Amino acid sequence: MSMVQGQGKTPSTDTEKFFSEVAKDKYIPDRTPYVRESRRVVLKLGTKVLLKHKKGESGALHGLARDIVRFRERGYVFSIVTSGAVGFGMDAMGIEARPTDLKKIQALASIGQSLLMQNWNAIFAESGLHTSQILLTYDIIENRKRYLHARDCFRSVFEYGAVPIVNENDSVAVDELKFGDNDTLSALTAILTDADLLVLFTDTDGIHTRNPYRHGDAERIPFIEQVDESVFGLIEDKQNGLSLGGMRSKLLAAQRSAQMGTGVIITQGFEPDLAALLEGADLGTFIRPNHKYEKKRKRWIFFNHKMKGRVIVDRGAEDALVNHSGSLLPGGILGTEGVFERESIVGIYNTADTLIGKGITNYASAEIEQMKGRRTDQLKSESGAVFADEVIHRDNMIVI
Ligand code: GLU
Repeated sequence: MSMVQGQGKTPSTDTEKFFSEVAKDKYIPDRTPYVRESRRVVLKLGTKVLLKHKKGESGALHGLARDIVRFRERGYVFSIVTSGAVGFGMDAMGIEARPTDLKKIQALASIGQSLLMQNWNAIFAESGLHTSQILLTYDIIENRKRYLHARDCFRSVFEYGAVPIVNENDSVAVDELKFGDNDTLSALTAILTDADLLVLFTDTDGIHTRNPYRHGDAERIPFIEQVDESVFGLIEDKQNGLSLGGMRSKLLAAQRSAQMGTGVIITQGFEPDLAALLEGADLGTFIRPNHKYEKKRKRWIFFNHKMKGRVIVDRGAEDALVNHSGSLLPGGILGTEGVFERESIVGIYNTADTLIGKGITNYASAEIEQMKGRRTDQLKSESGAVFADEVIHRDNMIVI
């Protein structure tokens, strides 16, 4: 169990009792030192927050823009991930229930995206800052070249001093190319921009011990050490007509981001107080980052879910990878599954069919089938075609 509640609470459920015991026995965690060190920040805002602003029911986003201007002068770099294309399209067309037909959703997104950008431009107008629209699709994760182009685009936008406003390219994204929700997209944006901090602004002020809409005694959890099953167990998700994500997808995005070294705050976005958040104020829930994957390439591998195939390794290779930071050599490979090209991301499995790692392969599946079980020096003396000793180099691999 890995989360810690605030001090001085009276536990009323088993879960709460457990947390307060954790808090009693261990240190009281403090987000302040980490948050104050953060300079590259991704802010994610949901449809409900944006629509409220558009309808004039909240002026809070002007305050957010002013804070962005102030903190940029102190060397901060911001990106914004915005939802709302479909929601703005629905609003413009007077539609209340989100259609299920993909063509209609795409059309509404194409209508709404420009309105959404108008809204963002109006928010930033008084600040004098330029915005940049970046629309992403899932295939940039699959294709490292496209991923690097997207990363370079962000860098250049930062050099021009503009604020990237990111959304999924909903009007062209079809099922297999979809992130699905902007929470996942914000986790990707955090990797692309090398962010220290991701702030997920939503309709609830963080993660609670129970559903705060239903239980008056629900308590906010200010600090989560690690997002694991016990944390997922706390949320009851509900979808609504406008937003896709819900708290579960926020937690998944937070889990991924934290695992890749980005701290995460989940907090309410109706009255966002960015300045206070960046000073480390105890608002919402902070999820501590972990620095396991410092190498940027490893972050990309970690994020990349879709593996093109499998490489099955023997016990010696498993030991070398898991316990001795070794690379994967042909001699330890028992076989492959699936047909894949060089430079593909593949899963590394042991003989018990357990995924032990992922990595970018130097060789195609057909080549590995020829090389498996053999020593690299033998292979080299037989053929000039061996260009790398490792099938997967340590730097291109993560062990799970
Ligand atoms: N990309 C969608 C939109 O802008 C939103 C997805 C989400 O709500 O997470 O409408």
